[in-house]
This record gives sequence, C-alpha cells and structure tokens, in this order.
Amino acid sequence: MAENPYTGREIWFLTGSQGLYGEATLRQVAEQSQRVAAALDNSGEIPMPVVWKPVLTSSEAIRQVMGQANEDPACVGVITWMHTFSPAKMWISGLDALRLPLLHLHTQADAALPWATIDMDFMNLNQAAHGDREFAFALTRLRVPRTTVAGHATDPAVAARIGSWARAATGVAEARTLRLARFGDNMRDVAVTEGDKVEAELRVGVSVNTWGINDLVQVVDNVKESTVDELIDEYVGAYDMDDDLRPGGARHESVRYQARIEAALRQFLDEGSFKAFTTNFQDLGGLRQLPGLAVQRLMADGYGFGGEGDWKTSALLRILKVVGAGRPGGTSFMEDYTYHLGPGTPKVLGAHMLEVCPTIAAERPRVEVHPLGIGDREDPARLVFTAATGPGIVVGWADLGDRFRWVANEIDLVEPDEPLPNLPVARAIWQPRPDFSTATEGWLTAGGPHHTVLSTALGADELTVIADHLGIDLVVIDAATTRRGLAKELRWTAAYQKLAQGL
Ligand code: MN
Repeated sequence: MAENPYTGREIWFLTGSQGLYGEATLRQVAEQSQRVAAALDNSGEIPMPVVWKPVLTSSEAIRQVMGQANEDPACVGVITWMHTFSPAKMWISGLDALRLPLLHLHTQADAALPWATIDMDFMNLNQAAHGDREFAFALTRLRVPRTTVAGHATDPAVAARIGSWARAATGVAEARTLRLARFGDNMRDVAVTEGDKVEAELRVGVSVNTWGINDLVQVVDNVKESTVDELIDEYVGAYDMDDDLRPGGARHESVRYQARIEAALRQFLDEGSFKAFTTNFQDLGGLRQLPGLAVQRLMADGYGFGGEGDWKTSALLRILKVVGAGRPGGTSFMEDYTYHLGPGTPKVLGAHMLEVCPTIAAERPRVEVHPLGIGDREDPARLVFTAATGPGIVVGWADLGDRFRWVANEIDLVEPDEPLPNLPVARAIWQPRPDFSTATEGWLTAGGPHHTVLSTALGADELTVIADHLGIDLVVIDAATTRRGLAKELRWTAAYQKLAQGL
C-alpha cells in the first residue's frame, strides 16, 4: 500500500479494579497492568501502539474514558482486563456508550503461580479468574459485541490474536470514514451488485456517491505529458513489456493512455478523499480504453475497486486492504470466472476482464495490450500474471434485503495444471475448502455473489471481528464445513438475524 494505515492509530489498554483494596494494592495493579500492556506493545504482533490508561475504579472514570475513546480519532479499539475484582455494575454506562470494537483479555500478571509462597496477599491481588467472569457477564448481559482472548500476554499466540483483532478494528475505523466514488451506475440488469447505500452508510459507515464518467474524462484529457512520461518510466522499471509497447514502439500509445487514466484517477480520488471507486464498461463516455492497468496499479496502492458498478465489493476491498496492510500476501478484486472439473482435483479459475491486483502476483507482472470483446473501445493495456500459491480466502458481500451478508470461503491457491499462453488477463487458480462441491453448493445456497475480494493476507478471524461489530451476517465455508451443517446454520442464522434486528 502507498500509505501505512496504522500510522496515528492506537489501541487503548483499560484495567479494571475497585477502591476496596487500598492504595498499595492499586499501585501494584497499575504497575502490573503497565507490564501487560508493554508486553503486548513490544510483541511485534500489533501494528500500532498499545496505550496503557490509568486503572479504572469508578463508573464515572469508566464512562469518561469510553467517551474519550469514541471521540479520539487515533483510538480504534479498547482492550479490557480485570486485574482484580471490578464490580461490573460500574461498567454498565461506559460499555453502553462505547462504539468501538472491544477485546476482553483474560489474563494474569505473571504466568506461573508461586506455589511455595502463595498467600492471601497474592490471592487478593491476582483475581482475574473471577474478576473477568464478573466483567464478561456484564458484556453478555449488555449484548456488547467483543472478542475474548485468554492466555498470558507474553504468549506469541495470544499477542498474534490480539494483533489480528487490532487490524480488524482498524478496518472498522476505515469503514466508518470511507468515501467511495462510482463512475457511472450499475451494470444494466445485474442483481447482486445492487444494494442499499443508505443502510451501508448507517451500518458500515461507507459513503457511496456517483459521478458522471465524463467528469473523469475531463481530468484524463488534462493530464500533462510529463506526468505520463514519469509513469511510463515506472512501468518500464516494474514490469516486463514487449518492445513495441515501450517508448518509441508501434503500440506505445496504448500504454500511455492507461498511464493517463491512472494519473487522472489518482488526482480525482485524492482531491475528493475517496479511497475506493467503481467503473462500468457499459458507461465509458469519452474514455478511449476501459481502465485496466490503471485500476490494477491503484488497487496495489490500497484503493478499493469493483467492476460493473459494484460498490459493495469495492468498499470491502478497501477495508480488507487496510486489515492486511504490511502482512505477507496480497488482496485483490476477484471474480469466480470458470472451472476445471477434472481430471484431478476440481479448481476455480478466478479473473476479471482486466482488473486483478498485482499484490497477489507470483511473478513480475507483464504489461500486455489485447482487444477486449466487450465495451466497444480501443485495446486496453493490462498487467498479466498468475497469483502466488498458498492459503487464502475469498469474501463476497450480498444485500439480502433485510440485512447484509458476507460469504467467505477458505481456499488454497495452486499452480495451473498447464501453462496458459493464450489467456491475456491476470488470474488466480484455487481449490476451495473443504472440497469443490461442498464449497460451491454452500456458496450458492448462501446467495454469495460472483464478485469477491481474494486475500492471502488475512482470514476468517479478522472478518469475524468486523462482521460482529458491524452487525453483518457472516457465513464462513472452511475445511470443517458440511452440507448438512451449513444448511442448518443458514436456517438458524436467518431466525437469529430477524430476532437480533428487533422491530
Ligand atoms: Mn464482473
């Protein structure tokens, strides 16, 4: 990504106790809770500072710190830990006011019990075993969505789970302020890319608005030749390219036009503070090519994108780009395109007309120019590559009318069975878990869309945190999924969602 989305972000570490124990004990609570917060901060697993806050012993202090957390743009989530017994009625109004993701850390200051020396002083100080139960009851009673992590702060697995939650919390913060520009509307007659933009702004936070494509064309036409030259230098350095596409080559102008689109898109999006956008090949106005290479490069820099006016996938891509930033792997717009049903293990070949993000590429991408069957425009330049192998996830966002649903499938990206010399687009090949039939049948039954976000940088844990916090119905198809189990889950989920929404 072009920017580090964790710069200027913080997680607040809140410790619960009460006045009953006296000043000396509370000083120990403060010292030990600072040690726990520091262990997390130094773990290397959490991509932003973990900021310790003074020990909380009253409902006034709790309400105040929750209000500050809500209002401070740096704070994206709070970790809570009840070092001692913190009577939970004093947490009610603060928790009721909190609007940020919450992680309940169930831990103790030191990992080992001092078996030989343990006395009642130790017992009075180290009470999380029951103090956290009192607190968790209040969370459950108040229906506070949260992530619960148990274990010692120095355990790398504990820190890693907290890091994954902190990333998801930053994704929520990103969603809350996300602005998305649509160039044109939806592809005509397509159902699944439609959706309720008012509900999306209320529930997720993303603001979705449309601009005429010719608003962009005007910017494209005004891009300076020197700006195009600079981008061409970058392309020549970063990608393979045939001589006829390079400066002076017979088809160089095709590449220059995409560079022109890239510069214009960047300018338009940055001037409007948009971090996500959509295009529609049915509505290209005065554009001479469908944006291809330009869109691929913007995705690589962290912008969300959806084809055919698909704003939901575009917003999801931007949110997940933030969640996966800095981790190995990549995150891209994707479409289940065609299948290999045998011989051998069945596979999905994912691609799009042009727009797959090079962050998932296995090799140095290649700039190519080919005709496009649809859209009635000049041959567009695009990056061609095959996605790197390894575990990943695909996620699609559907609007079911009464709620949003995300359908996710854990996958294994694999090599193509044979080279693909005639396929002029970037592609990813994968085997869905648990197997092709169970996964695709489940996806279809859940009403999952054909456009997705494919990521090798994050997984179901991060999606769960975001979906729980935003009230999105998340269906995960993974190695443990069975047909019968999923059918029941969908039936029960439908009932739960109706009840959870109230009237
Ligand atoms: Mn499509």
